Amino acid sequence: MKPKKQEQEEARREVTEIAPNVLRMELPILMPGLRHVNCYALLDDEGAAVVDPGLPGPDTWAALKDRLSQAGLSETDVHTVVITHSHPDHFGCAKRFAKAAGARIVAYESFGWGTPADADTHDHDEVSVDDRRAGADALEADTDRRGDEPSSSPSASRVRAMRAGHTRPSPWGGSPLGFPKRDPSASNVAELMMSEDFFPDITDPVGHLDVLRLAGRDWFVHFTPGHTQDHLCLHSPELGIFLSGDHVLPTITPHIGGFGHTPDPLRSFIESLNAVAGLQDVSTILPAHGHPFADLAGRTEAIKRHHEERLQRIKQIGRELGRANVVEFSQTLFPERSWGMMAESETYAHLEHLRLAREAESYSEDGKLIYVIR
Ligand SMILES: [Zn+2]
Ligand SMILES: [Zn+2]
Repeated sequence: MKPKKQEQEEARREVTEIAPNVLRMELPILMPGLRHVNCYALLDDEGAAVVDPGLPGPDTWAALKDRLSQAGLSETDVHTVVITHSHPDHFGCAKRFAKAAGARIVAYESFGWGTPADADTHDHDEVSVDDRRAGADALEADTDRRGDEPSSSPSASRVRAMRAGHTRPSPWGGSPLGFPKRDPSASNVAELMMSEDFFPDITDPVGHLDVLRLAGRDWFVHFTPGHTQDHLCLHSPELGIFLSGDHVLPTITPHIGGFGHTPDPLRSFIESLNAVAGLQDVSTILPAHGHPFADLAGRTEAIKRHHEERLQRIKQIGRELGRANVVEFSQTLFPERSWGMMAESETYAHLEHLRLAREAESYSEDGKLIYVIR
């Protein structure tokens, strides 16, 4: 059996001080390929900001209160919540902090799914199909539905749009959008994503290179689309700290699906990797899953290499199959236990990337997209 990846280690109770007023708090999560999410607390005279407050539900809330109390804080001291992107293990308890302490909620200005028309162009997986397989035991997320907010909140209409989106066929004519029934953890994630009780309303939307004052320091917002269309990272040049969210993880590859607000999410992701690889004054990277690490440029190179190898493999498959649809590509690329919408979505992202780079052509036949490698 392969050794556990860092991102699959269980959450520890211990709170670690990364730098003065910067704390790492590990929260338990049960998602495909992941067992903890790092919530970072940034302390100042007014209390604390927290970045990515875990999944929704009472288990996370109890863990958050426990970790905060170790730092001499309570939930009412949290004046700010920053969310790196619109996945439920990152925004889960944001609403609870808003209710408990009137905390402002900061996220990228495109957070969520925008208009209802966008609702069917989003998929929600955290880790790549390869890494998902490695941690794909049956899981049960904490799915407490005792929500804090009435369904008349502004997020409710977005949630209804997302539910509607889940009944749509996939754009490539393969598996329908939504989660495979045989993966209960993924179904749970879908439910959490779509619960209007938890989906936060952003009070402070931010843009690229906006500055946030946290832990007594300036933090620059970096827009890093790819894993999701609304992903942000935070950089404090003074501390040399880069909060990377799910954009750059230490040992697993984030999921890049074929839906996005651009025709080529993989290109967005690679461009976002290049952008952060060149940053000056980064000595410590704090990811949302896994341990702190030091070599941002080296890790971004390794992730880019993974996608380059995948593109080469897909071109090779295309040459062997001649003309093939996305399902056929994905079922050649991945072992049978990984087949389904997520595998097809990742394959579709790579095929569309090749098509837009003029290395492949596609046409529609009987409702299915067929690709031919040039
Ligand atoms: Zn994510
Ligand atoms: Zn994540």
